[in-house]
Amino acid sequence: PDARMVGAKLLEALARPHSLGDRPITSTPSIGVVMFSASSHSADELLRQADLAMYRAKAEGRNTLRFFDPEMQASAERQAALENDLRAAIAEHSFELYCQPQLSVDGRLAGAEVLLRWNHPTRGLVKPDEFISLAESSGLIIQLGAMVLTESCRALVRWAGDPHLREVTLAVNVSAHQLQAPGFVDQVLSILAETGAPSQQLFLELTESVFAQNFDEACSKMNNLRAHGVCFSLDDFGTGYCSLAYLKHFPLTELKIDRSFVKDLPGETHASAIVDAVLALACTLQLDVVAEGIETDEQRDFLVARGCRLLQGYLLGEPQPIAEFEAAYGAART
Ligand code: C2E
Ligand code: CA
Ligand code: CA
Repeated sequence: PDARMVGAKLLEALARPHSLGDRPITSTPSIGVVMFSASSHSADELLRQADLAMYRAKAEGRNTLRFFDPEMQASAERQAALENDLRAAIAEHSFELYCQPQLSVDGRLAGAEVLLRWNHPTRGLVKPDEFISLAESSGLIIQLGAMVLTESCRALVRWAGDPHLREVTLAVNVSAHQLQAPGFVDQVLSILAETGAPSQQLFLELTESVFAQNFDEACSKMNNLRAHGVCFSLDDFGTGYCSLAYLKHFPLTELKIDRSFVKDLPGETHASAIVDAVLALACTLQLDVVAEGIETDEQRDFLVARGCRLLQGYLLGEPQPIAEFEAAYGAART
């Protein structure tokens, strides 16, 4: 209780606006506290533990105080171990591209989305929700993203020689961290040049979070790539930073209706109103719409009746390893 009280006083004092010369400054301090008895730990270890508690305070919204507990240590160790695994996995090519079909309403294969899987030596097949955010926070997403783009472009080159796949587009997920990285445009352009992939069949899927950061920079990078033929798709549309004003400023080709809306169709009135609104908006802005996460006939029928022309979801096809995808949809299919 004493430490908490002292900490609270410190927070209060530090959070007050100060002035630096004639400029007012405000700060949002975070404090980490570790309790110890005389004999138990070395100073280094105590500082490390206080540091972990401080980072936890930061992560929990700043301007707060956290006490160290051993679970923080265990969680930090798990993160570090996973990060090492991830680094090794990139070096050893233990990632596999899966592909999920996107069908037009007449059942024709129009496109595919690349979904990454990690073949972990002990944990088996790991899904991206478990490693993408770690890849982002550790910076490894840059290498990982380059690998995914390179493999995807190679696939497009193979498909160019297949009469059934020749016109199929391939969508690659790109996280905000990748787009923000200084070399992103050059990275994409050099991968396109090295592989010889047809840029107009490459779609980059971005989420609304990229626009929350640096609007102008994101816009100019996208315009640059668009000028080279690359298309952009806005993923998870309607779930994030929902300002419609920016939509017309970005060189988008397509919006994706998020699964969280599709899953409540057709019964839920909010979900169906949102779907109608997205379709109307897309029509005005002349954008294509892909509905994702379609699992039932009722969902598909509703979307088709409302004018959605591109469909994706387990009902139409699950993600599968890219070689199996090619065997299932390519000219060699049986
Ligand atoms: P996302 O882009 O929204 O991808 C759609 C997710 O929904 C995928 O999960 C897909 O397997 C799943 N899905 C597809 N159809 C259905 C359906 O009918 N029902 C249900 N319940 N789920 C369906 P997945 O593969 O686990 O990927 C999760 C997220 O990880 C993706 O969400 C995407 O944001 C990210 N991700 C995947 N691959 C990459 C990548 O190569 N790079 C980056 N940066 N992110 C990736
Ligand atoms: Ca996606
Ligand atoms: Ca999505």
